[in-house]
Amino acid sequence: MKAVVKYAAGAEHVKLREIPEPTPGPGQVLLEVIYTGVCGTDLHVMRDEYKVNPPVVMGHEVLGRVIEVGSVEDADLWLGKRVVTETFFRCCERCEMCRAGRRNMCEERESIGSFRDGGFAEKLIVPVLNLHEVPAGVPDEIAALAEPLACTCHALLLQSSIKAGQTVLVTGPGPMGYLAAQVSRASGARVTLAGISADAEKLARLASDGITTTTETPPELAFDVAMRCAR
Ligand SMILES: [Zn+2]
Ligand SMILES: [Zn+2]
Repeated sequence: MKAVVKYAAGAEHVKLREIPEPTPGPGQVLLEVIYTGVCGTDLHVMRDEYKVNPPVVMGHEVLGRVIEVGSVEDADLWLGKRVVTETFFRCCERCEMCRAGRRNMCEERESIGSFRDGGFAEKLIVPVLNLHEVPAGVPDEIAALAEPLACTCHALLLQSSIKAGQTVLVTGPGPMGYLAAQVSRASGARVTLAGISADAEKLARLASDGITTTTETPPELAFDVAMRCAR
C-alpha cells in the first residue's frame, strides 16, 4: 500500500513509499483511511522539530472504516463502522497521568504519526479501545476534524470553562482559532476573533452571529477569556 513515510531523522526525509499492509493483532483493528488531516505537528515532524521514531507513517487526525478486527469478539461491535481514533497508540498505563485517565499526557506514550504508523496511508492499525464511532449524518469531511475539535474542547471546556455570557477573545483565525471561536460560541460566549490585516478577507467570511471579527488585536485583559491560536 502507499504511505507517506518519515524515513529518517533530520529535516525533510519524507517520501511517498510502498509499504506492506499491516495485520491487526489481538485488541487491534485495521482501518481503511477515509481522510487524514494535516496537522501543524505533521509539519514539525517533517522539519525535525518533533520527537519521532523513523521510519514511521505520518498523520494522526484519522477518519477511517474498520475493515478487519484482530479479535473475533470485536467483530460484531466494530466491523464496518466509520470511526475516528485517539492519537496515542500505546501508553505506560502506570504513571499518574495514565491513571488519571489523561493518557494523552503520558510521558511514555507512543502516538500514531510519530512513533507508530499513522494515517497518511491507505490503511493503519489502531487499538480497538481508541475508537470512537462517528454518528451517521456527520459528513466525512466534518468528521475528519474530530481530533482538532477535541483539542479545542479539551482546552476550552475542561482546562478552563467558558460560561454563557462571557466574552472570549481568540487571536489567530486559522483552523484551530476558528474551532475555538465556534466552541466558545456554542457555549454561549460572545466571541471576538482577531487577526492581522492579511487575514481581513478570511475574517469577513468567518464573521457570523455571535462571532465578531477584527484585524486590530484588542487588549486581552478586556475579555473574560483569551485564547492565542496564532504562532
Ligand atoms: Zn493534530
Ligand atoms: Zn503513562
